[in-house]
Amino acid sequence: MRNASCPGAPAERYEEVRIKLLGAFIDGLTLDQFTERIAFFIERCRSCFIITLNPELLYRSQRERSLMDIVNRADLVTADGVGIVWASRTAGQPVPERVTGIDLMMRLLQSAASHGWRVFFLGSYPGVAESASKRAVELFPGLQVAGSYHGFFSQEQNCQVVELIVGSKTQLLLVALGAPLQEKWIAANLSSLGNIAAVGVGGSLDVLSGNVRRAPRWMVRTNLEWLGRLLMEPSRWKRMLVLPKFMALVLVKYKIGKYLVSK
Ligand code: UDP
Repeated sequence: MRNASCPGAPAERYEEVRIKLLGAFIDGLTLDQFTERIAFFIERCRSCFIITLNPELLYRSQRERSLMDIVNRADLVTADGVGIVWASRTAGQPVPERVTGIDLMMRLLQSAASHGWRVFFLGSYPGVAESASKRAVELFPGLQVAGSYHGFFSQEQNCQVVELIVGSKTQLLLVALGAPLQEKWIAANLSSLGNIAAVGVGGSLDVLSGNVRRAPRWMVRTNLEWLGRLLMEPSRWKRMLVLPKFMALVLVKYKIGKYLVSK
């Protein structure tokens, strides 16, 4: 969890780039820096909780105090989505870039293959995590798959899932239960999981397995990935309604509020 001090770690060098946005700490790091820092934790067998924070999760955390506490207990929080990057700029504390769950996952899988870390894939419908792990091995030869399990287990089955992960001796756990379930699950179970790096990756296993297509590259490049996802999965429209509310909140807090105070 956050504040686990690692003397001499990249963590110390990056400490000053942590920003606070609508009450949540976010690390102003690039994808390369996040990967380097997570590698540091894994190589030293330290536990590490990583959140890829999108506007929906940050907006929800405004009302759910316990969720905000979880976000602020994480060791690393990425700016997942153009909305968070925009908000950081509006607040006058720009983060360097967007670091999405899928981009972080792919980079970590690449590092896992080259460093020999064992990876566990948890989440999505039965069969998806296993297909995703097979595809990951094709993409990153030499990758060591510690195991996989679907994401629709009951509270009663939770102990078995934790035992399965612990017994697999995984070092990197990809948790694809969707936000905020995956963040709540990691926060509740990390201490039982031992010294592993656990990252919430949302629907990324669906994409890796080939069940869902990622938005075209040009849309990703031009910050229109959210629109691509909406076009491919129109059922997401309801979730998108939070975006204008999130933007209004950011503008009120960081622009209008400041203007009124200065008057
Ligand atoms: N999911 C799961 N268990 C649940 C609810 C959802 O494993 O109890 C999975 C779901 O199958 C999907 C992922 O969590 O693979 C959520 O994907 P979504 O695209 O909604 O997440 P986001 O990336 O937007 O956080």
